[in-house]
Amino acid sequence: MKIGFIGLGHMGAPMARNLLKAGHQLVVYDIVKDAVEKIAAAGAVAAASPSAVAASSVEMLITMLPSSPHVRSVYLGQHSILAGAKPGTLLIDCSTIDPHTARDVAFDAKAKGLSMLDAPVSGGTGGAEAGTLTFMVGGEPRDFETARPVLARMGKNIVHCGAAGNGQVAKLANNMLLAISMIGVAEAMSLGVALGIDAKVLAGIINTSSGRCWSSDTYNPYPGVMDNVPASRDYIGGFGANLMLKDLGLATDAAKLAGQPVVLGAAAQQMYQMFSNQGHGNMDFSAIIKLFKPK
Ligand code: NAD
Repeated sequence: MKIGFIGLGHMGAPMARNLLKAGHQLVVYDIVKDAVEKIAAAGAVAAASPSAVAASSVEMLITMLPSSPHVRSVYLGQHSILAGAKPGTLLIDCSTIDPHTARDVAFDAKAKGLSMLDAPVSGGTGGAEAGTLTFMVGGEPRDFETARPVLARMGKNIVHCGAAGNGQVAKLANNMLLAISMIGVAEAMSLGVALGIDAKVLAGIINTSSGRCWSSDTYNPYPGVMDNVPASRDYIGGFGANLMLKDLGLATDAAKLAGQPVVLGAAAQQMYQMFSNQGHGNMDFSAIIKLFKPK
């Protein structure tokens, strides 16, 4: 299939490479020339703008951009996708953005006779390389079924979450809960150790008791409790605190628009903001435990 791909960064480049490996033809664009040249060397065709990608007879067009303003500009701005796309093209935005923008852009696309899905991912750059991402997809069921075989070349869990914007809703709700649970585990582990219990003994108790969660039994933030997690390698790699801060901002903004209280989500957002301001934004998000430990 001929597919357009715009946004060839940490996530987009390995996703696009997996589509090439699966035998799809790709037409690509990114504002960074070097990113385009690397994918072109692997067999993709470079285009001069988002509208040029859209106009090049692609059946599907995937975007993987940093945030909501980038998505608005690439879909709706000058030389945009909507300016070039032919009716019948299926648009799929995999960026993590706010649900309101996702719905606005899908609405404008529909007005031009174009179908659109929001399909944010979890699984990080490792999942993008390995083709094991989870896709949370919002949009029409028929478009979801059309997209599924292509998404399956980049991910292993592909879940339809309902109407347009609901992929973003699922992603934001999950990541807000993850931040809250990580802070909770960090706080409890730090309290226990400060009161004299060994960290591994405490983690063992929590992980067989009612406090157990993914942040405690799979990704424990206390150094030395688990092997092969960022906490045991100085919080290098993993999911960056600044990326978590971005997702918490999206969740709290969306909550404001919905008039919905997110008391713990807002507190988590403030804590990650503080942590980022201290210069730790590139560390894994489990490093938030440093706010509880004196050294
Ligand atoms: P990135 O910054 O590495 O890549 C974004 C790419 O978009 C860059 O190559 C950039 O040059 C390009 N771009 C920006 N503006 C553009 C424009 N106007 N036209 C064309 N290209 C443009 O970001 P990433 O880490 O690949 O993340 C992409 C999205 O995926 C984000 O929304 C992020 O929140 C989400 N996400 C990231 C991860 C992760 O671990 N990195 C995990 C899950 C979800």
